[in-house]
Parts: sequence; structure tokens; C-alpha cells
Amino acid sequence: MNQEELFKKLIAHSKEYGYIFPSSEIYDGLSAVYDYGQYGSELKNNIKRYWWEAMVRLNENIVGIDAAIFMHPRTWEASGHVGAFNDPLIDNKDSKKRYRADVLLEEYIAKLEDKVEKEVEKGRKKFAEGFDEAQFRATNPNVLRNAEKVNEVRARMVDALTKNDLEAVRQLILDCEIVCPISGTRNWTEVRQFNLMFETKMGSVSEDAGTIYLRPETAQGIFVNFLNVQKTGRMKIPFGIAQIGKAFRNEIVARQFIFRMREFEQMEMQFFIRPGEEMKWYEHWKATRMKWHKALGLGDSNYRYHNHDKLAHYANAACDIEFNFPFGFKELEGIHSRTDFDLGNHQKFSGRKLQYFDPETNENYVPYVVETSVGLDRLVLSVLSNSYCEEKVQKDGEEAGERVVLRIPAAIAPVKLAVMPLVKKDGLPEKAREILSSLKYDFNCQYDEKDSIGKRYRRQDAIGTPFCVTVDHQSLEDNTVTIRHRDSMEQERVSIASLRGIMEEKVSMRTLLEQL
Ligand code: ATP
Repeated sequence: MNQEELFKKLIAHSKEYGYIFPSSEIYDGLSAVYDYGQYGSELKNNIKRYWWEAMVRLNENIVGIDAAIFMHPRTWEASGHVGAFNDPLIDNKDSKKRYRADVLLEEYIAKLEDKVEKEVEKGRKKFAEGFDEAQFRATNPNVLRNAEKVNEVRARMVDALTKNDLEAVRQLILDCEIVCPISGTRNWTEVRQFNLMFETKMGSVSEDAGTIYLRPETAQGIFVNFLNVQKTGRMKIPFGIAQIGKAFRNEIVARQFIFRMREFEQMEMQFFIRPGEEMKWYEHWKATRMKWHKALGLGDSNYRYHNHDKLAHYANAACDIEFNFPFGFKELEGIHSRTDFDLGNHQKFSGRKLQYFDPETNENYVPYVVETSVGLDRLVLSVLSNSYCEEKVQKDGEEAGERVVLRIPAAIAPVKLAVMPLVKKDGLPEKAREILSSLKYDFNCQYDEKDSIGKRYRRQDAIGTPFCVTVDHQSLEDNTVTIRHRDSMEQERVSIASLRGIMEEKVSMRTLLEQL
């Protein structure tokens, strides 16, 4: 199965098994807006908890808040979003499709980089043991040509975007001979800037109503509360404020399922530090966040850093943690050194002092900030795409059909265990319900007695339940049950009394947090 097929199947599976539905589907859906179903919302809540506890509970100097989505409109002038939260868009006149001009260029660069890597791999195969990679990269004409082109296109792109020279962006697209993937033509419009913020009105009488925005990021709710939290929490620098919440962006090109949505959720932490110490903390948070991702167990090689070529208006260093999605490595989390841009500007725009008195240096200053910002929906997608698996099932050495299994890490799986009576009679359902009642306070459990036991196991595999507990006739005699493991499909017999301890060890969030 190639990655494109996998992605299509995953989208269908997510809908069929209650993870993710198109929003207002009975009206044919709303573009790039999705609803989380009964399992999707459990998964999302578990990921939130993992993040919140890693940030707020494990760090004495980080606290969490929950700010409103609506904010005073001046907030977005101060933050730079009214003036500069734009994406350059371009339309293809033949297909009438709209693209982000910078994304077209980045994809072009990625293709060239891919060519370079393929050439290196060819060399590695050809020269086998005697292969000297550094020398190959420095001398192979194909590698050199493409690497030079990468540098040239990237330099021109960064220059044009930094100067906001939209004509130069268009010219670069023409010079690179980039075609529309739908029409295959180079019949492009001008490049225009498009502000991504959603506007709405607040107030009861339309003439009086003022324009306000749906927040495009959660960070500003933290900045405007900097002093409130610092004073009431008696926080000492360095300290952090964390928040999980919705953000809204009128994305130009919203494809790729929940990767790019118009309403999505962010988990952000702003870390307030002494000016001049930003690079130390930037490196610290880069490493800390990478560790958090890897502890989930989706495979270390699926993550990489990507340094920004063009820094946002507020940053003096920035990188992404990228994940290997079915459509390639793409941004999962951003780590930005935001200097004193935000607090400094809020100070200017509000006329309030947003400073900190540092008892160690006896100085007043506007703190610098290092931010970590991860998309919750992108995390859900990384977990689902990495977990989806179709496999042939063997029974007694023979092929016995296929199964679809979501190998979601146990600690964040929506349902932790399903309790099932082998048959619907002889007192087995009562026994199974008794077990369920004793475990449901600690774990999200399900009871299932419908259909054959094989079908029930498949159903639980498809939603990613790591354990199934089966009650049979022997259970009535000796108080034992079988536990069936989702991934290996192995079964073991254990006492009912030991169930809670076994589950605790296997599915507790603690196993993740202890790795950090
Ligand atoms: P991109 O370059 O993909 O548009 P960005 O650099 O604009 O993303 P940030 O402003 O750094 O994103 O936002 C922080 C995080 O929020 C991103 O790493 C991503 O996980 C998430 N995010 C941003 N935009 C969206 C979106 N439209 N849908 C889902 N998640 C998003």
C-alpha cells in the first residue's frame, strides 16, 4: 500500500470508526472543518493530558491558564497580525485552483532535495564499501547542479518574501517553470497577500458593533495575562505559562484532512526569560520537546528538525519539529525565540508597563520569550497515521483472514480495555459486568457481548483498544480471565484480582511521563 492509499484509507477508517467526521456532514460538510467523534475526542483528551502534565505538573515553574478566544481588537494590532498575518496566494487561471505561492516554491525545493538524496543513494549502492559520501556530494555533477539550484531558489524566495516583493515571488515561480498540479499549465495570476484572520462583530446594534477577530493563535492570551499570572503566582523568571485552546485561520489552501484546518487546537507554552539568555533556552526547549514527542513511541526516525529560512516578524530564531506524515515530513510543532516583541508591543499599545523586576540583578526589564507551539490536531493525525495497519492474520500456522488494527500507544488509546463474556449466558455476562464495574473508575473500559468473540476482537482492533479481557466458564470456577493483547494477539490467563495492577502498569500515563 503506498502512502497516498494509506492516507485515503485512514480518512475513511477515522469516519467509519467514530474518530473524525466532516463538520455538519448532513449539509455536505464545511471545508477544512472537522468534528471529533466518540473515540477521536478521547484520543485528543489523552494527548492534551500528556502535554499538560508534562508541562504544568512536571515543571514547578510552569503554570497553565485558559484565556478567552475573543480579545480586545488592539491585541491583534500589537501582535502584528492585522498588518502582517498574510499568506501570498496565487491562482492558476486554467484550473481556477488557488495555491500558497510560498508553498509551491517550498515543494519545488523539496523535490530538488529529494533528487540529491536519490543520487547519493545511487552512489552508495554503486560504490558499496568504498563509498565516500562527503566526496560524492562535493564532486558528483548531478548533486552539485541540484544543490546549487536549491540554494539559489531558496535565497531568492527568502529575499522576495522578506521584502514582501510579490512580483519577485511570481517571477521565481515562472523561472522555476512550476506548473499547476491540476491543469499542468503555467498560466498564473499575480501574487496577492491574504489576511488569515476571521472577523466577526461584537455588540447588539449593528452600527455600534465593533469588529473583533477569532484568535489566530493562543499565544496572545498568555502575553496579555503575563503580569496577572506573574504577580498572583509570585512567579520568578525563568517561568512559563501554558495554554490549550482553539485557534482560527482562514487558510487559503485547506487540504490534507486535519493537517490544515480552519478551526483547530493549539497547545502553547510561552517561557519568559532574561534578555540575552534566549539561545540557551531555545536549545533547551528544542531538545525537551523532541524528547516529549519521541517518548510517545511512534518511531524516532519519524521526527526531524527544520530550521526556518524566513523568520516571522517576531522571531530571532525558529525551527519546526517535523513529522513523517503520509504526505511527507511536515511541521508538527514550532519552537520560536520571540524576543521581547510581544510584551514590548503590548506595552506600547496598551500604555501599561509589562516589566519584571529581577531581584537577582536589581533591574527592571521586558522579559524575552521562547515559545513552544504544537497543533493538537496534527498530533492526532501523527498518531493515527502511524498506528493504522492492515495485516494478515495467522491461526495455527494457517492464514486466517485480515485485520485492520490501530496500534495506538496504550497510554493514549481511547479505550483501554474491553470486557467480554465468551457467551451471552450461564452467568458470564454478570461476571463480566462485575469486572467492568471494578475497573471503570480507573480506566476507560467497554463492555461487549454482541457477535462472535473473533468479530468482537476485530472491532476492538479497529478502534485501537490495547487489551481485551474475556470471561469464560473457567472464570466462574477459579476467578481467572484471559487477556488478549492487541498487537501480538497473544492471550494469557490471569487472575481477576491482578487485572487492575497489570492494566495500571501497561496503560498508565506515568509510563510516558517517566521517560521525560
Ligand atoms: P504552517 O506553516 O503549516 O501553516 P505555521 O508555521 O503557520 O504552520 P504556527 O503559527 O507556528 O504554524 O502554529 C503552531 C502550530 O499550530 C503548528 O506547528 C501546527 O501544528 C499548528 N497549526 C497551525 N496552523 C494550523 C492549521 N491550519 N490546522 C491545524 N494545525 C495548525
